[in-house]
Amino acid sequence: MNPEQIKNAILKLKDEHNAIILAHNYQREEIQLLADYIGDSLDLARYSAKVDASLILFCGVDFMAETAAILNPKKTVLIPDPEARCPMAAQLPAQLVREAKREHPGAAVVLYVNTLAEARAEADVTCTSANAPLIVNALDEEEILFGPDRNLAWFVQQRSDKKIIPLPDRGYCYVHRMFSPADIMLLKERYPDAEVLVHPECDPEVQNLASHICSTSQMLLRAKASPAKRFIIVTEVGLVDRLRREFPDKEFIPALETAVCKQMKKHTLEKLYLALRDKKHVVRVPPNIATKARAATERMLEISGRATHD
Ligand code: SF4
Repeated sequence: MNPEQIKNAILKLKDEHNAIILAHNYQREEIQLLADYIGDSLDLARYSAKVDASLILFCGVDFMAETAAILNPKKTVLIPDPEARCPMAAQLPAQLVREAKREHPGAAVVLYVNTLAEARAEADVTCTSANAPLIVNALDEEEILFGPDRNLAWFVQQRSDKKIIPLPDRGYCYVHRMFSPADIMLLKERYPDAEVLVHPECDPEVQNLASHICSTSQMLLRAKASPAKRFIIVTEVGLVDRLRREFPDKEFIPALETAVCKQMKKHTLEKLYLALRDKKHVVRVPPNIATKARAATERMLEISGRATHD
């Protein structure tokens, strides 16, 4: 089948199975174009919780698909390529969280949703890069075990008086650590009129050069609201496709063309088709883990929803 035929076959199967396709902002452009909904982790978590479909084809990495499965216990969640695993999430096994809790009995555990379900089940509440400071500051505890991204922990520490303890010591996203301050300085010199939008998983030295530090959904909002005509985008390049599509009258410069998340790009149209056709690669989370992880995720949705509506 050629790409157009695969696309049509996917749409037909989607109708037959009463399915919906969700895609993260870092997905390949052809997948974004086919998706019913595109977003960051929080958007996708919220959307999957209210979606009316019997089957969810989730185009993102493992921990995100787990979130969709946790929030939709009555729906079937498929992932086109089960090898789409986030290496940062893998840096925080549940055992490490249990040990840290024993060492810091008075601390709250706040885990970024970029964490596998088994570890997330040990959390009091989860967060995303868009709402991490809000979640931490809403808690009563003064000491916070925060993982797995050390740079996001640093970002939160700049916005909170609480003591933030990174967990593990040096968790990181290899894509966001590709950006160097020297590269960003060069781009700023070349495009002095551009706003620099930096993701909080980048190193502190890079965050310090930002006009705004934003999650991917916040970058979209900023691009829309800002009077600027030019933006330097310091995150995975997949978001640049979406920004260019949605704001054709503005210019978006990727800070680094090679900032590509190989795991996000594992999904292809052909794999989407095969997963839907064979209803394969079902995402399963054991019920005892799902119940605890759901409570942590729902607490996040409740706190962030409350803030949105206050
Ligand atoms: S961009 Fe980083 S955090 Fe996101 S899935 Fe890829 S490796 Fe994981």
